Amino acid sequence: MKYFGAHVSASGGVENAPRNAHEIGATAFALFTKNQRQWAAPPLSQAQIEAFKEACEKYGYSAEQILPHDSYLINLGHPEEEGLQKSRDSFFHEMSRCEALGLDRLNFHPGSHLKKISEEESLDRIAESINMALERTEGVIAVIENTAGQGSNLGYDFAHLRYIIDRVEDKSRVGVCIDTCHAFAAGYDLSTEESCEKVFAEFEQIVGFKYLKGMHLNDAMKPLGSRVDRHSPMGDGVLGIDVFRYVARDKRFDGIPLILETPDESRWAEEIARLKAFAE
Ligand SMILES: [Zn+2]
Ligand SMILES: [Zn+2]
Repeated sequence: MKYFGAHVSASGGVENAPRNAHEIGATAFALFTKNQRQWAAPPLSQAQIEAFKEACEKYGYSAEQILPHDSYLINLGHPEEEGLQKSRDSFFHEMSRCEALGLDRLNFHPGSHLKKISEEESLDRIAESINMALERTEGVIAVIENTAGQGSNLGYDFAHLRYIIDRVEDKSRVGVCIDTCHAFAAGYDLSTEESCEKVFAEFEQIVGFKYLKGMHLNDAMKPLGSRVDRHSPMGDGVLGIDVFRYVARDKRFDGIPLILETPDESRWAEEIARLKAFAE
């Protein structure tokens, strides 16, 4: 079974996200459980938690169809103590929110060394940050997203994902999300069926499909290896439509949320319909 959706709005409260997803014909969705550009958030009320769970049930979304995304401010590989601590606290709160909402995974960008420590030192911090959050929560998988490698962002190389996974104590609670635009920008050619075949064979070898807990399906505005994170609508960019068809038809992407983060929201319903047609 394929689950297709988009990163929908949760404005007015997390309980609104399932309806927003339903309205565009989605069978999966992503959301922020709090304002993604702020550190602090009021705790979720019991009423909100209940309303969210009821809406998920009403529209037929179970945890494996939902991929929450954490705040953009969090940097789990931060080179400085204060920034690291703040990020770790905030990540723990995001994990707790997912746990309270009955969600089983949280998608996040690994972190940045900010050119103050080595890649390896920063990756070690990220792994340690994950271990700390897992220790204090239950049932939520930490899902590391690959990045475009813009600035000093880590996670642009599949080997970074493997490095982190190797250092996470509870392997049952760590996973990855592959963003097609980020992979392309980082130099993984996903523009044809043959090149997809090659990249995902490499993914299987280095990381392993058993860790794949979600995908972000985005076209790319900038060329292969640009290291620039700019998404395009499906089929409009330089990455092109082949990777969307490839993922929709390949069984290895069954049973996980496949999420559009394409820039034109008004096209999501049409993009989802197209993905569903590819899968048939
Ligand atoms: Zn992301
Ligand atoms: Zn993404």
